[in-house]
Amino acid sequence: MTIESDPIINYLEQYKTIYGKNIYLEDSESIKKSNLDKYFNLIKDCLKCKLGESRNKFVFGVGNPNSKIVFIGEAPGKNEDLKGEPFVGRAGNLLDKILKAISLSRSDVYICNILKCRPPKNRDPLPEEVTECEPFLKKQLSIIQPNLIVALGKIAANTILNNNEQLGGMRNKIHSYQGIDLIATYHPAALLRNPNLKINAWEDFQMIRDKYLINN
Ligand code: URA
Repeated sequence: MTIESDPIINYLEQYKTIYGKNIYLEDSESIKKSNLDKYFNLIKDCLKCKLGESRNKFVFGVGNPNSKIVFIGEAPGKNEDLKGEPFVGRAGNLLDKILKAISLSRSDVYICNILKCRPPKNRDPLPEEVTECEPFLKKQLSIIQPNLIVALGKIAANTILNNNEQLGGMRNKIHSYQGIDLIATYHPAALLRNPNLKINAWEDFQMIRDKYLINN
């Protein structure tokens, strides 16, 4: 085959005619980031429930869109609503420390909440708010495609797993959400309120490390 008739050379010649000399290849890592960015822009002005009217900032999520682990909390609190970022208050500081204990940082994982807007006075999410907001979470997960979801706290775990169990009964098991493994552990705010629970949380994070991080 002569060079002129090679289909790849022909394709590249046509590409050069249309796009110039630079060849743009988007890798799957940047595709996930740009898909999340596009999705954020699509939903950030949401007014599907009343929380949209009282929020300061829509709290979409932060971290590494290519992470294999996604942490899911309940809903933004006061600090998160002001900053537009999940887990930035005292509970967030503790989450950072726990991540560090298993050799991770906030930028290695992806962190978001079930609700993207702050409920007044940090009350629990209402079922109708979850109904409107959960599809956003599902779409985020379909873009990120993690191997593991960590539900932070009873309310996050109950909501995602659609049950009413106590956190103690949900720990130490691998559940499934959207076909993705899910582990339930304590909310960092619960650990701040009751430091005796830290030993159990540490067991959960060791399980996360040993099953999902080592040799992965
Ligand atoms: N609690 C949560 O569940 N999420 C946050 O983002 C902050 C506190």
